Amino acid sequence: MLIGMDDTDSNEGMCTTYLAALLADELKAYGTVSGLPYLIRLNPTVPYKTRGNAALGLELRLFDESDSSLREQAVSHVVSRIREYAAADCEKTNPGAVFIFEETYDKMRAPLNLFFKKAVTDVIEIEEARSLLSAFGSKTRGAGLFHFSLKNGRGLIGSLAVCGAALNPGWAVTYEYLAYRLPQNWGNRGGPVRFVDPDSLIEADRRTTPDTWDTVDYSKKSKPFPVCVPGSDDPVLYGIRGNSPQSVQKAAGFVVSEETERFCVFQTNQGTDAHLIPAGSISEMRPLHSYILGGTVHSYAETLEGGHDIFTLSDASGNLSACAAYEPTGDFRHVIRQLLPGDSVTVYGSLKNQTLNLEKIKIQTLVPAVRQTNPVCPVCGKRMESAGRSQGFRCRACRTTAAEKTAVPVPRTLKPGFYEVPPSARRHLSKPLIRCSKEELEN
Ligand code: ATP
Repeated sequence: MLIGMDDTDSNEGMCTTYLAALLADELKAYGTVSGLPYLIRLNPTVPYKTRGNAALGLELRLFDESDSSLREQAVSHVVSRIREYAAADCEKTNPGAVFIFEETYDKMRAPLNLFFKKAVTDVIEIEEARSLLSAFGSKTRGAGLFHFSLKNGRGLIGSLAVCGAALNPGWAVTYEYLAYRLPQNWGNRGGPVRFVDPDSLIEADRRTTPDTWDTVDYSKKSKPFPVCVPGSDDPVLYGIRGNSPQSVQKAAGFVVSEETERFCVFQTNQGTDAHLIPAGSISEMRPLHSYILGGTVHSYAETLEGGHDIFTLSDASGNLSACAAYEPTGDFRHVIRQLLPGDSVTVYGSLKNQTLNLEKIKIQTLVPAVRQTNPVCPVCGKRMESAGRSQGFRCRACRTTAAEKTAVPVPRTLKPGFYEVPPSARRHLSKPLIRCSKEELEN
């Protein structure tokens, strides 16, 4: 049976990944967990998300698939754990879970594939999830497709999406090793500050890069700093992302930390750019979607209060007035500040509040930069002086004049190619350049 779960956590604590890791161990009482649990990131722009818009799932092969009482017991176990752990007091938390039994897999494969892809790239109304459930669902805990929800049940969207991912392998997959703190140490239970030795993370990164990424951020010149350790109250101690279960496990082997309760390696769509839609033009872009878009820089970047840099991009269909590199993107903003009107670029990012939040940029071609200087006297070769306001330029000695300043080419320090935000500012779904093939980087 497939189990999908979502929306059990709040900003103050809990994490649906913890529930999935816990259940991956506990459900061994009913069968074996097939493959690795799923940690699927969905549309990063949806307003309902708490943090990273993750949905969780796992496939359980029951000891006896035909035993309906065993099915019901497994479902009840999951439901009772959700009731126990979900931060249902939080206004934004609307838990949901979906259970799909094997006899229903084939029937659900195609509709849930579409639903999964839509959940990653688009916005889905809860009614759409509910109508899928009523079309295919059953009322009993041990047959077909069963669901459970609390409050408005919005978590059913993510739950269906993760089941769609599980039923339709073939999407780009990466892995994450998540280590969890002892429950008595959780921040929201008054536990101590989490301890993970930063030097051990640097070592873990050094020994496993490029097969792991975003463990440490080296973009600040001062000192490398770990980015894989959450600062909040959640049960995660640290997470290591990588290309294979082996690479993330190897990296975790170098980490020195406080005692952990458990760990789980998840298969994920993180670091794959699955959320990005190739856009044909600016005019076809819609808010709450993420795009890859080619265009021409229309204006110099403007630095706003708070250190955010914004420029306008244009194409034949119109202008996109705000492509933004926010303050946390650090040195990435230096790239944006060097763009000149006329530069040809491809931008990667999410459109929200009429602003494209940049994740990456590819500079395709650069216009020549020029500096306006006083013209040179054609007779003596010295620079002319101003002849007065709006009166052009002159060389007193040679009595030569010129009407306008001269444009002198200046070398551009910026080079064509890809530039990305630092790991500390990276979206879960964004593909780091370290993961891109030579062809992807060159084409
Ligand atoms: P965390 O990262 O800590 O797990 P979260 O950011 O995943 O938290 P959730 O608590 O899961 O946030 O809330 C996201 C909510 O949005 C869920 O109810 C989920 O079903 C719903 N959702 C996810 N993707 C979409 C989408 N594309 N359209 C509409 N709703 C969505």
